[in-house]
Amino acid sequence: MAPENVIIIGSACAGLTAAIYTARANLNPLVIEGYQAGGQLMLTTDVENYPGFPDGILGPDLISLFRKQAARFGTRFLTEDVTRVNFSKHPFLVQVQEKEFKAHAIIISTGASANLLGLKNEKRLMGKGVSTCATCDGAFFKNVPVAVSGGGDSAAEEALFLTKFASEVMLIHRRDKLRASKIMQDRLFKNPKIKIIWDTVVEDVLGKEAMTGLKIKNVKTQKTSEISCEGFFVAIGHTPNSHLFAPYLKLRENKYIETAPNSTKTSIDGVFACGDVQDFVFRQAITAAGSGCMAAMECEKYLEKIHQ
Ligand code: NAP
Repeated sequence: MAPENVIIIGSACAGLTAAIYTARANLNPLVIEGYQAGGQLMLTTDVENYPGFPDGILGPDLISLFRKQAARFGTRFLTEDVTRVNFSKHPFLVQVQEKEFKAHAIIISTGASANLLGLKNEKRLMGKGVSTCATCDGAFFKNVPVAVSGGGDSAAEEALFLTKFASEVMLIHRRDKLRASKIMQDRLFKNPKIKIIWDTVVEDVLGKEAMTGLKIKNVKTQKTSEISCEGFFVAIGHTPNSHLFAPYLKLRENKYIETAPNSTKTSIDGVFACGDVQDFVFRQAITAAGSGCMAAMECEKYLEKIHQ
């Protein structure tokens, strides 16, 4: 079978934008979208900061529109997970279970997954009070108490952002020292809306239809208690879904795929990475979509060059 022009691995904002652009460029892209297609937006409810939707849009609905737009220009989708790749020879190999595909170019858009605490009711109440993104969901918690778990810069940033809306922000950290940078710590300590609950872990999220509070435990005294809050932001870091590519591509120390400055080019010519698998700074739907467009345009140029 002749190699594909381009295989796009992953199907959220970045991958589907890359699909729209490469399909419109007549590259006939194949998207291997994975069983958990759609990425982190599938875990959110209303998206209010994606331009073009003044009344907001549900995360899954936004993804469905992206997908429809990509399909309109002839994108082909395979709803399976990539199990293995081999980028050591060209055309590149992409394996999905026992099926093997070849492609002249690859666009990786496998995203990142927010780390979760692994609590019994954490996933069940995701989008019903539990969130992993204050920028996305913070505005839903006006004048009510919320909690944040974590002690790094992400947790500090989420907590500070949430003070714009919430009546009180409880930052729950498992130790008696924060990992966050000094400047972020200073901001936290100065903000009267933030209360830090030290040496404490969250044991579970409480609530039936929506969350109503948290069960927490002080790790020094072993005392458990319950606190009331309507929002709970888990901010204990993200893990980029870069594992499959680690044997071939240069990764950063934090495991994100390294791309050239202002580019989606990876350490292998013809392999591009876009969205949250390479972006640990902005991590927004709109920036992921933007980088998907960049990957498609760079891919198009690359294919022109090799087919000359
Ligand atoms: P991080 O620095 O790895 O911090 C994760 C935090 O979550 C730590 O405080 C850790 O506690 C806690 N944690 C991890 N697993 C936990 C668990 N199972 N239960 C309870 N707590 C847990 O991650 P991050 O805050 O996402 O930051 C990642 C990188 O991005 C850092 O380099 C950071 O500086 C950078 N960043 C920068 C900015 C900024 O400059 N504005 C904003 C966001 C992120 P321990 O401290 O006890 O380990």
